[in-house]
Amino acid sequence: MNTKTDVLVIGAGGAGCRAAIEAADNDPGAQIVILSQGPVGKSGLTVMANGGMRWVTQPDDTPDNLFREVVEAGDFINEQNLVEILTEEAPARANELIGWGAKELPFAEVSQSGGAAPDQRGTGPSYVRSHYVPGVNYMMALRKELESRSNITIIEDSIATKLIIRNNRAIGAVVLNIRTGEIFYIAAKAIALATGGLGELYDHSSNTPFGMHGHSTGMGCVLAYDAGAELIDLEMVQFTGDQLYPPWLLGNPALLVSLCGGKYMNVHGEEFMKLPLTRAETQILAHKEIAKGNGTDRGGVFIDLTASSLPGEEIEEQLKISLSASIGKERWKLIKDMSADNPDPKNWKIEFTPGGAHFAMGGVRINGKCETNIEGLYAAGEVSGGVQGGNRMGGNALTEIIVFGARAGKFAGEYAKSVDIIEPEAGQVDEERDRLLGLFNSEGAAPCEIRKKITAIMSEYVAVCRSGEGLNKALAELEALRKGEFTKMRVPGGKVFNSWWVEAIQVVYMLNLAEMITRSALFRTESRGAHYRDDYPERDPSWVKHTCLVKKDGRIDIRAVPVTITKLDPEAKV
Ligand SMILES: Cc1cc2nc3c(=O)[nH]c(=O)nc-3n(C[C@H](O)[C@H](O)[C@H](O)COP(=O)(O)OP(=O)(O)OC[C@H]3O[C@@H](n4cnc5c(N)ncnc54)[C@H](O)[C@@H]3O)c2cc1C
Repeated sequence: MNTKTDVLVIGAGGAGCRAAIEAADNDPGAQIVILSQGPVGKSGLTVMANGGMRWVTQPDDTPDNLFREVVEAGDFINEQNLVEILTEEAPARANELIGWGAKELPFAEVSQSGGAAPDQRGTGPSYVRSHYVPGVNYMMALRKELESRSNITIIEDSIATKLIIRNNRAIGAVVLNIRTGEIFYIAAKAIALATGGLGELYDHSSNTPFGMHGHSTGMGCVLAYDAGAELIDLEMVQFTGDQLYPPWLLGNPALLVSLCGGKYMNVHGEEFMKLPLTRAETQILAHKEIAKGNGTDRGGVFIDLTASSLPGEEIEEQLKISLSASIGKERWKLIKDMSADNPDPKNWKIEFTPGGAHFAMGGVRINGKCETNIEGLYAAGEVSGGVQGGNRMGGNALTEIIVFGARAGKFAGEYAKSVDIIEPEAGQVDEERDRLLGLFNSEGAAPCEIRKKITAIMSEYVAVCRSGEGLNKALAELEALRKGEFTKMRVPGGKVFNSWWVEAIQVVYMLNLAEMITRSALFRTESRGAHYRDDYPERDPSWVKHTCLVKKDGRIDIRAVPVTITKLDPEAKV
């Protein structure tokens, strides 16, 4: 089923859906194809999002105030032109989404923090900006809009495995239909990449709470890299705490302390850190405290709610808010059942451990039009880098994906109007088809076992706190995997819905991305944002730069490139 389209959107979370809608509306005569690895509205990270969204609403607040806080939280390596776009366009995009039926719940009214930024540094006035549009509502509205446009074709359960490039222009993609096992080619005038994050490269990640494995493996970054695109700041991976007790999956520590009061305590009952802290700082300080021997037997520290000045009922309300509204009721009941011997949250000490990959700040390098350095290739959402800098503030991803999703759709659509479809060179598509079919093999290591080895290496050496020694060990172990298990993977069975086959395809990309993240982390010889190096514990003013990686002669080439500064001088911080 080879096909042709004007704009091909790869990935159907918030960024991809918004891109497809914009491309379709800008040119009703254009054909748009949107590809999704799973069912639209049920796969990817947007649907899982708690729903915190940050945009300026109060009359005395301005996008400029928010701009400053985003850049400070990002540790000054945000592309400031992109942050300006984010903060200025977010209100209109968010209201448009709500107008399409995404239900906003009254977060700011009930939040004790008044909706103030939970991980803001406290350097300025704190405005009510947090809105609450749960991911399920968000995606239902987008799916409805997608389906209402006759020039959009949705292809589900299908993965793009290779971008086809001719003369530095993206001209199409090879796709595997997981349902049928068919491998086909989509020729496109323009391509918008919106494949989301990479949390599944780690043992623990908030990116798989519903067990939907395989949608956040960072495949889009590797597709772009193989196509010749530049990737920036891959070392900037945001972690959020894993709750040990009471056991639930969502909820980041800074948000919990901000909403409920309470103190960060070590196992000896000593307060070891205080708000305001960024998400990154919370993780790094907790990790260090545990490394000093001040953690619990399970390797955790506490958010001590007994120290909160709020009454128990109010703490309970705030804790409920921190859970996703769509599943909060059931989850809250579960938590209460599990805490039956100690039901009043006022008496709780929430035990958490740092780790749990949550968000990728780095990714494909884009400009304000979402263009990459490959002609005809656009990127938006978590697969792209530069908007959030070294650390993302809570609530800024759900705005980023609609703001930049719409831009990617608009500019990809405009580009598509100016060019013709180009046929691939002889053999370009067949080579990829042969590679995919060549993965079938009756002997060797199971791809899921190899995946576990990759995630174990990343969690051991490339997680919250890193060191040159550890990062070099990671590279050596990844290389040993490449030369060992990778040379023979076991993929039995037929082509129809064969999860072993899909896993084998993805694990190759995961290994490559793991190496890229590790090399980027080794290259940045300082600590900034979410990247902490034991051997370079200080922020280095000369490192207000992006790490930038590109494929050159088949190898990873890495260099530092300047950060775009429009309004806020990094000297203000460093
Ligand atoms: C548990 C959780 C809670 C969160 N809560 C919040 C919050 O409250 N506020 C906030 O601002 N942010 C939050 N985030 C972050 C935010 O949800 C994500 O950053 C954002 O939704 C990413 O959107 P996206 O469109 O870029 O990617 P996604 O929504 O992940 O969509 C990616 C799409 O690409 C598809 N795909 C991937 N690879 C391929 C391929 N090769 N071929 C075809 N399709 C492919 C996937 O199937 C999926 O459809 C949360 C994240 C998590 C995990």
